[in-house]
Amino acid sequence: MDTALQTKEAICNGCISRTCCYHYRVSITGFDLWRIASALDIRPSQFVGFTYAEADAEHAFILDHSGERYELVLAKSTDAQRLGACVFLVRTNTGIHRCGLGDLSPLVCRQYPGYFKDGLMRVINNPNACWRTWSILELDVDLERALEQSAKERLDDYDAILRDWNERVGKSSADSWFSFEQFCTYLENRYVTQFAT
Ligand code: SF4
Ligand code: SF4
Repeated sequence: MDTALQTKEAICNGCISRTCCYHYRVSITGFDLWRIASALDIRPSQFVGFTYAEADAEHAFILDHSGERYELVLAKSTDAQRLGACVFLVRTNTGIHRCGLGDLSPLVCRQYPGYFKDGLMRVINNPNACWRTWSILELDVDLERALEQSAKERLDDYDAILRDWNERVGKSSADSWFSFEQFCTYLENRYVTQFAT
């Protein structure tokens, strides 16, 4: 089969190394956290962590009055066989890697390596994260637009929830602090209220 005619989905589904799942620190939204935790019936602490946010990070939360801002990220595996990989990456004895989440994977994973800038679809070519060179022709523009629209909506929801959380922390007494677990529970409660049927 002509490789140039394969879709992103076919290429990534057939990729055995999944180096992107090792390379990136994957930032997710509260929606991803809630969706994965509810579908798998696991606690967020089993698969997410938090890391210092860049100064210009848009989707950040606070836990106290120190001024530090954090981002929600997928945890990394400490298993010697897949050290540093996403916690959901599965590795067989023969070295084949697969995403253990399948269709549950975060939107940002499903978008990669496609993204939009100024309304135009583009593709990331990062040799440290992927063994191949991508062509924009391998991306389905309608699918990418749909993913982009979903991601935008979920980020808007998440930003509104983060604003409420940060305001709540900001209004607490100066020596108050909140744990990451409290933040995760707050997210779950907000998404249950908003999305559960
Ligand atoms: S982006 Fe590259 S490394 Fe990641 S799954 Fe697709 S082909 Fe593999
Ligand atoms: S959720 Fe799946 S696709 Fe995303 S980084 Fe983890 S293993 Fe890779």
